[in-house]
Amino acid sequence: MSYKYETQHNAVSFTQGRNGKAIDKIVIHWWGDPATNPSYAGVINWFKNPSAGTSAHFVATGTNRSVAQLVDLRNTAWHAGDWNANLTSIGVELDPRCRPEDYDVAAELIADIRSAYGDLPLYWHSDFVATRCPGNWDVVKLDKLSYTKYSHLTDWGKGGNKVPTPPVVVPPKPPVVTPPKPPVVVPPKEPTPVPTPTPVPPVIKPEPPKENPKEDIIVAFTAKDQAVLQAQAQGVINSGNFAPVISDHIKTVAYFVTDSLAVLATLVLTVLGILGVMDAILALTLNGAIVAALIGFKQIFRISSKK
Ligand SMILES: [Zn+2]
Repeated sequence: MSYKYETQHNAVSFTQGRNGKAIDKIVIHWWGDPATNPSYAGVINWFKNPSAGTSAHFVATGTNRSVAQLVDLRNTAWHAGDWNANLTSIGVELDPRCRPEDYDVAAELIADIRSAYGDLPLYWHSDFVATRCPGNWDVVKLDKLSYTKYSHLTDWGKGGNKVPTPPVVVPPKPPVVTPPKPPVVVPPKEPTPVPTPTPVPPVIKPEPPKENPKEDIIVAFTAKDQAVLQAQAQGVINSGNFAPVISDHIKTVAYFVTDSLAVLATLVLTVLGILGVMDAILALTLNGAIVAALIGFKQIFRISSKK
């Protein structure tokens, strides 16, 4: 984690040097009864006060993770109440609230001290004089915790946890079991029905277009009024209206269909017409012409409406 390392504060009550003694221990203190609500800044200021008559090398707190060095480690601080202990130790004043963050910062500080001065053992202040100090601090616990911290030899306050925080183990997700797909059941193909052949409609030979009866007409007349009847018949044929002629002059009308039949009918009706049976006939069919012939027209003319 590291901590904020402050060196701008200097205690005034200390002894230069260590009188040739080697540093061989760390003495743990609390900086006062928590009931009196002492503060980090207040302790520092007290050590800076010439009337204090006491000092420590370090003051540490978990609040804002701060450590102040007030006495150079080469000099002797006045903290143990035992002169020989002062000459051979590093005095550390800790936050009396003993919070987890106080332990953590203190442990890192001790790791830093040990990194620079060797594996120094921890001592209770009460090991040297009759005192409540270091109060509620569990020095054994602090000692063990300090070994979980690493340090840099000269970079105070740049340490951290030697034992990495175990990563949060995320349990692996159980594999998603994909249920096997049911086999695709291919339904048996129904037999392809043989397509019923589309009945080919019988080719209906188009009947030859019926000739317009107007276009090929046999007109049979009796001998008398031949010219008038013929003219009237021509006019009726051209106008498409047979009724007047039929009512006035023509008694029977027959129809021929084809030229060849018309020719035949013409020959027959010519003969019959000569016999003078009927006044006139408009024969447009073979049957009609035959009927006309049987009736006995005297004269038969072929009149084409195409003219
Ligand atoms: Zn003490």
